[in-house]
Amino acid sequence: MRLSRYFLPVLKETPAEAQIVSHRLMLRAGMIKQASAGIYSWLPLGFRTLKKIETIVHEEQQRAGHIPLLMPTLQSAELWQESGRYDAYGPEMLRIRDRHDRDMLFGPTNEEMITDIFRSYVRSYKDLPMTLYHIQWKFRDEVRPRFGVMRGREFLMKDGYNFDLTKEDALHAYNRHLVSYLRTYERMGLQAIPMRADSGPIGGDDTHEFLVLAETGESEVFYDSEITDLKFGDREIDYDSHEQCRGVLEEFTSRYARTDETHDEAIFNEIPEERRRVARGIEVGQIFYFGTKYSEPMGAVVQGPDGKQIPVHMGSHGIGVSRLLGAIIEANHDDKGIIWPEGVTPFHVGLVNLKTGDEEADAACEKLYDALDAAGLEVLYDDRDERAGAKFAGMDLIGLPWRITVGPRGLKNGVVELTSRRTGESEELPPEAAVAKVA
Ligand code: ATP
Ligand code: MG
Ligand code: MG
Ligand code: MG
Repeated sequence: MRLSRYFLPVLKETPAEAQIVSHRLMLRAGMIKQASAGIYSWLPLGFRTLKKIETIVHEEQQRAGHIPLLMPTLQSAELWQESGRYDAYGPEMLRIRDRHDRDMLFGPTNEEMITDIFRSYVRSYKDLPMTLYHIQWKFRDEVRPRFGVMRGREFLMKDGYNFDLTKEDALHAYNRHLVSYLRTYERMGLQAIPMRADSGPIGGDDTHEFLVLAETGESEVFYDSEITDLKFGDREIDYDSHEQCRGVLEEFTSRYARTDETHDEAIFNEIPEERRRVARGIEVGQIFYFGTKYSEPMGAVVQGPDGKQIPVHMGSHGIGVSRLLGAIIEANHDDKGIIWPEGVTPFHVGLVNLKTGDEEADAACEKLYDALDAAGLEVLYDDRDERAGAKFAGMDLIGLPWRITVGPRGLKNGVVELTSRRTGESEELPPEAAVAKVA
Protein backbone atom coordinates (compact mmCIF):
# COMPACT_ATOMS: atom_id res chain seq x y z
CA MET A 1 0.00 0.00 0.00
CA ARG A 2 1.29 3.43 -0.96
CA LEU A 3 0.60 6.06 1.65
CA SER A 4 -0.01 8.65 -1.09
CA ARG A 5 -2.99 6.59 -2.22
CA TYR A 6 -4.18 5.41 1.19
CA PHE A 7 -6.59 7.03 3.61
CA LEU A 8 -4.81 7.46 6.90
CA PRO A 9 -6.15 10.57 8.65
CA VAL A 10 -3.51 10.92 11.38
CA LEU A 11 -4.21 13.58 14.04
CA LYS A 12 -1.46 15.86 15.30
CA GLU A 13 -3.28 16.93 18.44
CA THR A 14 -4.23 14.64 21.25
CA PRO A 15 -8.03 14.38 21.27
CA ALA A 16 -9.32 15.85 24.53
CA GLU A 17 -12.23 13.42 24.91
CA ALA A 18 -10.04 10.32 25.14
CA GLN A 19 -9.18 9.35 28.70
CA ILE A 20 -7.02 6.30 28.14
CA VAL A 21 -3.99 5.72 25.97
CA SER A 22 -5.48 3.13 23.61
CA HIS A 23 -8.42 5.38 22.80
CA ARG A 24 -6.10 8.36 22.23
CA LEU A 25 -3.79 6.34 20.00
CA MET A 26 -6.60 4.81 17.95
CA LEU A 27 -7.98 8.27 17.25
CA ARG A 28 -4.57 9.79 16.55
CA ALA A 29 -3.54 6.92 14.28
CA GLY A 30 -6.68 7.40 12.20
CA MET A 31 -8.12 3.98 13.06
CA ILE A 32 -11.59 4.94 14.26
CA LYS A 33 -13.99 7.85 14.18
CA GLN A 34 -16.82 8.20 16.63
CA ALA A 35 -20.20 8.23 14.91
CA SER A 36 -22.19 8.70 18.11
CA ALA A 37 -21.66 7.74 21.75
CA GLY A 38 -20.10 4.27 21.82
CA ILE A 39 -20.55 3.76 18.07
CA TYR A 40 -17.58 3.95 15.73
CA SER A 41 -16.66 3.93 12.09
CA TRP A 42 -13.66 1.78 11.44
CA LEU A 43 -11.31 3.74 9.21
CA PRO A 44 -9.02 1.76 6.87
CA LEU A 45 -6.16 1.18 9.32
CA GLY A 46 -8.51 0.23 12.16
CA PHE A 47 -10.59 -1.97 9.89
CA ARG A 48 -7.49 -3.73 8.64
CA THR A 49 -6.35 -4.48 12.19
CA LEU A 50 -9.81 -5.59 13.23
CA LYS A 51 -9.78 -8.07 10.32
CA LYS A 52 -6.43 -9.44 11.49
CA ILE A 53 -7.85 -10.08 14.93
CA GLU A 54 -10.98 -11.59 13.47
CA THR A 55 -8.91 -13.93 11.30
CA ILE A 56 -7.00 -15.26 14.29
CA VAL A 57 -10.25 -15.83 16.15
CA HIS A 58 -11.73 -17.71 13.16
CA GLU A 59 -8.61 -19.84 12.71
CA GLU A 60 -8.45 -20.84 16.35
CA GLN A 61 -12.17 -21.56 16.55
CA GLN A 62 -12.02 -23.81 13.55
CA ARG A 63 -8.87 -25.48 14.79
CA ALA A 64 -10.91 -26.46 17.85
CA GLY A 65 -13.60 -27.92 15.58
CA HIS A 66 -16.18 -25.16 15.94
CA ILE A 67 -18.42 -24.35 12.98
CA PRO A 68 -18.86 -20.77 11.70
CA LEU A 69 -22.22 -19.38 10.63
CA LEU A 70 -23.77 -15.93 10.66
CA MET A 71 -26.89 -14.81 12.47
CA PRO A 72 -28.54 -11.42 11.97
CA THR A 73 -28.03 -8.40 14.24
CA LEU A 74 -31.78 -7.77 14.52
CA GLN A 75 -33.82 -10.30 16.42
CA SER A 76 -37.48 -10.81 17.07
CA ALA A 77 -38.65 -10.22 20.65
CA GLU A 78 -40.66 -13.45 20.58
CA LEU A 79 -37.64 -15.69 21.08
CA TRP A 80 -36.60 -13.68 24.10
CA GLN A 81 -40.09 -13.88 25.55
CA GLU A 82 -39.83 -17.64 25.25
CA SER A 83 -36.64 -17.79 27.28
CA GLY A 84 -37.93 -15.22 29.74
CA ARG A 85 -35.08 -12.81 29.12
CA TYR A 86 -37.02 -10.15 27.20
CA ASP A 87 -38.07 -8.47 30.44
CA ALA A 88 -35.08 -9.56 32.50
CA TYR A 89 -32.43 -8.04 30.21
CA GLY A 90 -33.36 -4.47 31.08
CA PRO A 91 -32.35 -1.14 29.55
CA GLU A 92 -29.10 -2.48 28.04
CA MET A 93 -31.24 -4.02 25.30
CA LEU A 94 -32.02 -1.73 22.38
CA ARG A 95 -35.66 -2.36 21.55
CA ILE A 96 -37.02 -1.51 18.16
CA ARG A 97 -40.51 -1.60 16.67
CA ASP A 98 -40.96 -2.19 12.96
CA ARG A 99 -43.68 -0.69 10.72
CA HIS A 100 -46.02 -3.58 11.50
CA ASP A 101 -45.68 -2.88 15.21
CA ARG A 102 -43.64 -5.99 15.76
CA ASP A 103 -41.20 -5.89 18.66
CA MET A 104 -37.63 -6.38 17.57
CA LEU A 105 -34.28 -5.85 19.23
CA PHE A 106 -30.66 -5.36 18.27
CA GLY A 107 -29.02 -8.52 19.60
CA PRO A 108 -26.84 -8.11 22.70
CA THR A 109 -26.02 -11.86 22.51
CA ASN A 110 -27.49 -14.88 20.70
CA GLU A 111 -28.38 -17.74 23.06
CA GLU A 112 -32.06 -17.68 22.08
CA MET A 113 -31.49 -17.45 18.35
CA ILE A 114 -28.93 -20.22 18.20
CA THR A 115 -31.13 -22.45 20.37
CA ASP A 116 -33.96 -21.83 17.91
CA ILE A 117 -31.73 -22.80 14.98
CA PHE A 118 -30.63 -25.93 16.78
CA ARG A 119 -34.13 -27.07 17.74
CA SER A 120 -35.36 -26.50 14.18
CA TYR A 121 -33.01 -29.06 12.68
CA VAL A 122 -31.26 -31.33 15.14
CA ARG A 123 -33.18 -34.36 16.31
CA SER A 124 -30.69 -37.02 17.33
CA TYR A 125 -27.85 -37.37 19.78
CA LYS A 126 -25.85 -38.73 16.85
CA ASP A 127 -25.42 -35.16 15.55
CA LEU A 128 -23.69 -34.14 18.78
CA PRO A 129 -21.33 -32.77 19.91
CA MET A 130 -21.83 -29.54 18.00
CA THR A 131 -20.42 -26.06 18.51
CA LEU A 132 -21.62 -23.21 16.32
CA TYR A 133 -20.21 -19.69 16.43
CA HIS A 134 -20.29 -16.38 14.65
CA ILE A 135 -18.50 -13.06 14.71
CA GLN A 136 -21.16 -10.42 14.56
CA TRP A 137 -21.94 -6.88 15.77
CA LYS A 138 -23.75 -6.64 19.06
CA PHE A 139 -25.53 -3.72 20.64
CA ARG A 140 -25.73 -3.04 24.34
CA ASP A 141 -26.98 0.32 25.45
CA GLU A 142 -24.25 0.73 28.07
CA VAL A 143 -24.93 3.39 30.71
CA ARG A 144 -21.45 4.79 30.25
CA PRO A 145 -19.91 3.97 26.90
CA ARG A 146 -16.29 5.05 27.20
CA PHE A 147 -12.67 4.32 26.45
CA GLY A 148 -13.34 4.09 22.73
CA VAL A 149 -13.86 0.56 21.45
CA MET A 150 -13.27 -0.88 24.93
CA ARG A 151 -16.76 -0.13 26.10
CA GLY A 152 -18.74 0.62 23.01
CA ARG A 153 -22.46 0.32 22.55
CA GLU A 154 -22.02 -1.33 19.17
CA PHE A 155 -19.16 -3.82 19.29
CA LEU A 156 -17.91 -6.90 17.50
CA MET A 157 -18.07 -10.16 19.40
CA LYS A 158 -17.30 -13.75 18.64
CA ASP A 159 -19.96 -15.80 20.36
CA GLY A 160 -20.05 -19.56 20.22
CA TYR A 161 -22.53 -22.07 21.57
CA ASN A 162 -22.00 -25.73 22.32
CA PHE A 163 -24.70 -28.41 22.27
CA ASP A 164 -23.97 -31.67 24.03
CA LEU A 165 -25.82 -34.74 25.19
CA THR A 166 -24.38 -34.86 28.68
CA LYS A 167 -23.02 -32.52 31.27
CA GLU A 168 -19.66 -34.23 30.96
CA ASP A 169 -19.51 -33.54 27.22
CA ALA A 170 -20.59 -29.94 27.76
CA LEU A 171 -17.85 -29.47 30.33
CA HIS A 172 -15.40 -30.82 27.79
CA ALA A 173 -16.66 -28.14 25.37
CA TYR A 174 -16.06 -25.60 28.14
CA ASN A 175 -12.50 -26.82 28.65
CA ARG A 176 -11.89 -26.94 24.91
CA HIS A 177 -12.94 -23.31 24.65
CA LEU A 178 -10.59 -22.40 27.45
CA VAL A 179 -7.71 -24.04 25.59
CA SER A 180 -8.59 -22.40 22.29
CA TYR A 181 -8.91 -19.00 23.98
CA LEU A 182 -5.46 -19.29 25.56
CA ARG A 183 -4.04 -19.97 22.09
CA THR A 184 -6.05 -17.16 20.52
CA TYR A 185 -4.86 -14.49 22.95
CA GLU A 186 -1.24 -15.64 22.89
CA ARG A 187 -1.22 -15.41 19.10
CA MET A 188 -2.19 -11.77 19.54
CA GLY A 189 0.74 -11.18 21.85
CA LEU A 190 -1.50 -10.98 24.90
CA GLN A 191 -1.48 -12.71 28.23
CA ALA A 192 -5.12 -13.20 29.21
CA ILE A 193 -5.61 -14.91 32.55
CA PRO A 194 -8.68 -17.11 33.11
CA MET A 195 -10.34 -15.99 36.32
CA ARG A 196 -13.29 -17.41 38.17
CA ALA A 197 -16.16 -15.02 37.58
CA ASP A 198 -19.85 -14.37 37.99
CA SER A 199 -22.30 -15.37 35.28
CA GLY A 200 -24.51 -12.24 35.17
CA PRO A 201 -27.54 -12.26 32.84
CA ILE A 202 -26.26 -15.25 30.81
CA GLY A 203 -26.82 -17.50 33.84
CA GLY A 204 -25.13 -20.73 34.95
CA ASP A 205 -22.63 -21.93 37.52
CA ASP A 206 -19.38 -22.49 35.71
CA THR A 207 -17.77 -19.47 34.20
CA HIS A 208 -14.35 -17.97 33.67
CA GLU A 209 -13.46 -14.55 32.39
CA PHE A 210 -10.20 -13.90 30.54
CA LEU A 211 -8.46 -10.79 31.79
CA VAL A 212 -5.58 -8.80 30.41
CA LEU A 213 -3.81 -6.99 33.20
CA ALA A 214 -3.81 -3.23 32.67
CA GLU A 215 -4.10 -0.23 34.97
CA THR A 216 -6.95 1.12 32.90
CA GLY A 217 -8.94 -2.12 33.18
CA GLU A 218 -12.44 -1.78 34.54
CA SER A 219 -12.37 -4.96 36.64
CA GLU A 220 -10.64 -5.36 39.96
CA VAL A 221 -8.75 -8.65 40.05
CA PHE A 222 -7.05 -10.71 42.74
CA TYR A 223 -4.46 -13.34 41.87
CA ASP A 224 -1.46 -15.38 42.86
CA SER A 225 1.52 -13.96 40.96
CA GLU A 226 2.55 -17.51 39.96
CA ILE A 227 -0.31 -17.58 37.48
CA THR A 228 1.47 -15.11 35.23
CA ASP A 229 4.33 -17.60 34.73
CA LEU A 230 2.01 -19.98 32.89
CA LYS A 231 2.33 -19.92 29.11
CA PHE A 232 0.40 -22.00 26.65
CA GLY A 233 3.14 -21.74 24.05
CA ASP A 234 3.16 -23.95 20.98
CA ARG A 235 2.00 -27.17 22.60
CA GLU A 236 0.03 -29.55 20.43
CA ILE A 237 -3.43 -30.27 21.73
CA ASP A 238 -5.92 -32.87 20.63
CA TYR A 239 -9.13 -30.91 20.99
CA ASP A 240 -11.16 -34.13 21.09
CA SER A 241 -9.28 -35.39 24.11
CA HIS A 242 -11.24 -34.72 27.30
CA GLU A 243 -8.17 -35.52 29.32
CA GLN A 244 -5.84 -33.12 27.53
CA CYS A 245 -8.28 -30.23 27.61
CA ARG A 246 -9.10 -30.84 31.26
CA GLY A 247 -5.37 -30.95 31.98
CA VAL A 248 -4.93 -27.47 30.52
CA LEU A 249 -7.90 -26.12 32.47
CA GLU A 250 -6.54 -27.62 35.67
CA GLU A 251 -3.12 -26.14 35.05
CA PHE A 252 -4.39 -22.65 34.22
CA THR A 253 -6.84 -22.56 37.11
CA SER A 254 -4.49 -24.09 39.66
CA ARG A 255 -3.59 -20.72 41.15
CA TYR A 256 -5.91 -18.23 42.77
CA ALA A 257 -7.26 -15.78 40.17
CA ARG A 258 -10.65 -14.14 40.62
CA THR A 259 -12.54 -11.00 39.77
CA ASP A 260 -14.06 -8.90 42.54
CA GLU A 261 -17.44 -10.60 42.08
CA THR A 262 -16.14 -13.97 43.27
CA HIS A 263 -13.16 -12.85 45.31
CA ASP A 264 -12.82 -14.60 48.67
CA GLU A 265 -10.54 -12.81 51.11
CA ALA A 266 -10.07 -15.86 53.33
CA ILE A 267 -8.76 -18.08 50.52
CA PHE A 268 -6.71 -15.23 49.10
CA ASN A 269 -5.00 -14.72 52.44
CA GLU A 270 -3.73 -18.30 52.39
CA ILE A 271 -1.41 -17.37 49.52
CA PRO A 272 2.05 -16.27 50.71
CA GLU A 273 1.90 -12.50 51.03
CA GLU A 274 4.64 -11.77 48.48
CA ARG A 275 2.62 -13.56 45.80
CA ARG A 276 -0.72 -11.83 46.45
CA ARG A 277 -1.64 -9.34 43.76
CA VAL A 278 -4.52 -6.89 43.62
CA ALA A 279 -4.67 -5.25 40.22
CA ARG A 280 -6.92 -4.21 37.38
CA GLY A 281 -7.81 -6.07 34.24
CA ILE A 282 -9.64 -5.80 30.93
CA GLU A 283 -12.19 -8.55 30.27
CA VAL A 284 -11.48 -9.83 26.75
CA GLY A 285 -13.57 -12.98 26.87
CA GLN A 286 -15.78 -15.22 28.95
CA ILE A 287 -16.89 -18.84 28.84
CA PHE A 288 -20.03 -20.27 30.43
CA TYR A 289 -21.54 -23.65 31.07
CA PHE A 290 -25.24 -23.28 31.82
CA GLY A 291 -26.66 -26.74 31.23
CA THR A 292 -30.29 -26.77 30.16
CA LYS A 293 -31.14 -23.16 31.05
CA TYR A 294 -32.21 -22.39 27.46
CA SER A 295 -32.77 -25.84 26.01
CA GLU A 296 -35.46 -26.71 28.55
CA PRO A 297 -37.77 -23.67 28.22
CA MET A 298 -37.17 -23.53 24.46
CA GLY A 299 -37.54 -27.25 23.80
CA ALA A 300 -34.12 -27.94 22.32
CA VAL A 301 -34.19 -31.70 22.75
CA VAL A 302 -32.62 -34.63 20.98
CA GLN A 303 -33.46 -38.29 20.97
CA GLY A 304 -30.95 -40.10 23.17
CA PRO A 305 -29.50 -43.59 22.58
CA ASP A 306 -32.41 -45.11 24.52
CA GLY A 307 -35.05 -43.27 22.47
CA LYS A 308 -35.86 -40.74 25.22
CA GLN A 309 -36.07 -37.00 24.50
CA ILE A 310 -33.27 -35.18 26.30
CA PRO A 311 -32.75 -31.41 26.59
CA VAL A 312 -29.22 -30.63 25.42
CA HIS A 313 -26.50 -29.28 27.68
CA MET A 314 -25.22 -25.95 26.51
CA GLY A 315 -22.65 -23.29 27.11
CA SER A 316 -21.76 -20.01 25.49
CA HIS A 317 -18.37 -18.51 24.89
CA GLY A 318 -17.55 -14.93 23.93
CA ILE A 319 -14.53 -13.00 22.77
CA GLY A 320 -14.59 -9.20 22.61
CA VAL A 321 -13.11 -8.87 19.14
CA SER A 322 -13.31 -5.07 18.86
CA ARG A 323 -12.38 -4.56 22.53
CA LEU A 324 -9.21 -6.57 21.87
CA LEU A 325 -7.79 -3.73 19.78
CA GLY A 326 -7.93 -1.47 22.80
CA ALA A 327 -6.55 -4.18 25.09
CA ILE A 328 -3.65 -4.93 22.76
CA ILE A 329 -2.73 -1.26 22.55
CA GLU A 330 -3.00 -0.81 26.33
CA ALA A 331 -0.46 -3.62 26.65
CA ASN A 332 1.76 -2.56 23.72
CA HIS A 333 2.66 1.10 23.37
CA ASP A 334 5.18 3.75 24.37
CA ASP A 335 5.12 7.54 24.40
CA LYS A 336 5.55 7.64 20.61
CA GLY A 337 2.62 5.42 19.78
CA ILE A 338 1.41 1.90 19.24
CA ILE A 339 3.73 -1.13 19.06
CA TRP A 340 1.80 -3.87 17.26
CA PRO A 341 2.59 -7.48 18.05
CA GLU A 342 3.54 -9.32 14.83
CA GLY A 343 0.39 -11.45 14.86
CA VAL A 344 -2.08 -8.59 14.53
CA THR A 345 -0.17 -5.73 12.93
CA PRO A 346 -2.05 -4.02 10.09
CA PHE A 347 1.13 -4.05 7.96
CA HIS A 348 4.39 -5.83 8.69
CA VAL A 349 6.77 -3.19 7.40
CA GLY A 350 6.80 0.56 6.96
CA LEU A 351 8.97 1.63 4.06
CA VAL A 352 10.21 5.20 4.33
CA ASN A 353 11.62 7.01 1.36
CA LEU A 354 13.77 9.84 2.70
CA LYS A 355 13.92 11.59 -0.65
CA THR A 356 10.82 11.08 -2.72
CA GLY A 357 11.55 12.37 -6.23
CA ASP A 358 15.18 11.26 -6.15
CA GLU A 359 15.48 8.78 -8.99
CA GLU A 360 17.76 6.37 -7.19
CA ALA A 361 15.83 6.44 -3.89
CA ASP A 362 12.52 5.97 -5.69
CA ALA A 363 13.87 3.03 -7.71
CA ALA A 364 15.38 1.37 -4.63
CA CYS A 365 12.07 1.73 -2.76
CA GLU A 366 10.08 0.25 -5.64
CA LYS A 367 12.45 -2.69 -5.76
CA LEU A 368 12.22 -3.22 -2.01
CA TYR A 369 8.46 -2.91 -2.11
CA ASP A 370 8.26 -5.69 -4.69
CA ALA A 371 10.75 -7.88 -2.83
CA LEU A 372 8.85 -7.51 0.46
CA ASP A 373 5.60 -8.22 -1.33
CA ALA A 374 7.09 -11.30 -2.97
CA ALA A 375 8.19 -12.49 0.47
CA GLY A 376 4.54 -12.36 1.57
CA LEU A 377 4.90 -9.24 3.70
CA GLU A 378 2.42 -6.39 3.83
CA VAL A 379 4.10 -3.06 3.29
CA LEU A 380 2.99 0.49 3.94
CA TYR A 381 5.20 2.62 1.72
CA ASP A 382 5.52 6.27 2.70
CA ASP A 383 6.10 7.70 -0.77
CA ARG A 384 4.81 11.16 0.12
CA ASP A 385 6.88 14.27 -0.35
CA GLU A 386 7.21 15.03 3.37
CA ARG A 387 9.93 15.78 5.90
CA ALA A 388 11.78 12.75 7.25
CA GLY A 389 10.81 13.71 10.81
CA ALA A 390 7.11 13.68 10.01
CA LYS A 391 7.42 10.33 8.24
CA PHE A 392 9.21 8.78 11.22
CA ALA A 393 6.74 10.19 13.72
CA GLY A 394 3.85 8.82 11.65
CA MET A 395 5.40 5.36 11.46
CA ASP A 396 6.12 5.36 15.20
CA LEU A 397 2.54 6.37 15.91
CA ILE A 398 0.95 3.62 13.85
CA GLY A 399 3.41 1.14 15.30
CA LEU A 400 4.38 -1.32 12.55
CA PRO A 401 6.95 -3.82 13.89
CA TRP A 402 9.60 -2.92 11.27
CA ARG A 403 10.66 0.20 9.45
CA ILE A 404 12.99 0.21 6.47
CA THR A 405 14.45 3.60 5.69
CA VAL A 406 15.88 4.33 2.27
CA GLY A 407 17.93 7.45 1.47
CA PRO A 408 20.53 8.56 -1.06
CA ARG A 409 23.36 8.53 1.49
CA GLY A 410 22.84 4.89 2.47
CA LEU A 411 22.29 3.81 -1.10
CA LYS A 412 25.76 5.13 -2.02
CA ASN A 413 27.12 2.49 0.34
CA GLY A 414 24.60 -0.11 -0.80
CA VAL A 415 22.65 -0.13 2.47
CA VAL A 416 19.25 0.72 3.93
CA GLU A 417 18.33 1.09 7.59
CA LEU A 418 16.20 -1.48 9.37
CA THR A 419 14.59 -0.39 12.64
CA SER A 420 12.64 -2.44 15.15
CA ARG A 421 9.70 -0.50 16.57
CA ARG A 422 9.76 -2.47 19.80
CA THR A 423 13.44 -2.17 20.69
CA GLY A 424 14.16 1.01 18.75
CA GLU A 425 17.38 -0.60 17.52
CA SER A 426 18.55 0.18 13.99
CA GLU A 427 21.08 -1.46 11.72
CA GLU A 428 22.37 -0.74 8.26
CA LEU A 429 22.38 -3.60 5.81
CA PRO A 430 21.94 -4.35 2.10
CA PRO A 431 18.29 -4.26 0.97
CA GLU A 432 18.13 -8.02 0.33
CA ALA A 433 19.40 -8.71 3.85
CA ALA A 434 16.76 -6.38 5.30
CA VAL A 435 14.02 -8.27 3.47
CA ALA A 436 15.42 -11.60 4.66
CA LYS A 437 15.55 -10.38 8.25
CA VAL A 438 11.96 -9.18 8.30
CA ALA A 439 10.50 -12.19 6.48
P1 ATP B 1 -18.35 -6.22 30.68
O1 ATP B 1 -18.23 -6.86 32.05
O2 ATP B 1 -17.10 -5.56 30.24
O3 ATP B 1 -19.57 -5.36 30.57
P2 ATP B 1 -19.75 -8.51 29.80
O4 ATP B 1 -19.35 -9.47 30.88
O5 ATP B 1 -21.04 -7.82 29.92
O6 ATP B 1 -18.56 -7.41 29.62
P3 ATP B 1 -20.00 -10.75 27.95
O7 ATP B 1 -21.47 -10.90 27.91
O8 ATP B 1 -19.21 -11.69 28.76
O9 ATP B 1 -19.63 -9.21 28.36
O10 ATP B 1 -19.49 -10.67 26.41
C1 ATP B 1 -18.32 -11.31 25.90
C2 ATP B 1 -17.21 -10.31 25.63
O11 ATP B 1 -17.65 -9.22 24.83
C3 ATP B 1 -16.67 -9.66 26.87
O12 ATP B 1 -15.75 -10.50 27.53
C4 ATP B 1 -16.00 -8.40 26.32
O13 ATP B 1 -14.69 -8.69 25.88
C5 ATP B 1 -16.87 -8.06 25.14
N1 ATP B 1 -17.76 -6.92 25.47
C6 ATP B 1 -18.81 -6.92 26.30
N2 ATP B 1 -19.39 -5.71 26.37
C7 ATP B 1 -18.67 -4.91 25.55
C8 ATP B 1 -18.77 -3.54 25.18
N3 ATP B 1 -19.72 -2.78 25.68
N4 ATP B 1 -17.86 -3.05 24.30
C9 ATP B 1 -16.90 -3.84 23.79
N5 ATP B 1 -16.75 -5.14 24.10
C10 ATP B 1 -17.62 -5.67 24.97
MG1 MG C 1 -21.56 -5.87 30.35
MG1 MG D 1 -18.23 -8.84 32.64
MG1 MG E 1 -18.51 -11.23 30.61
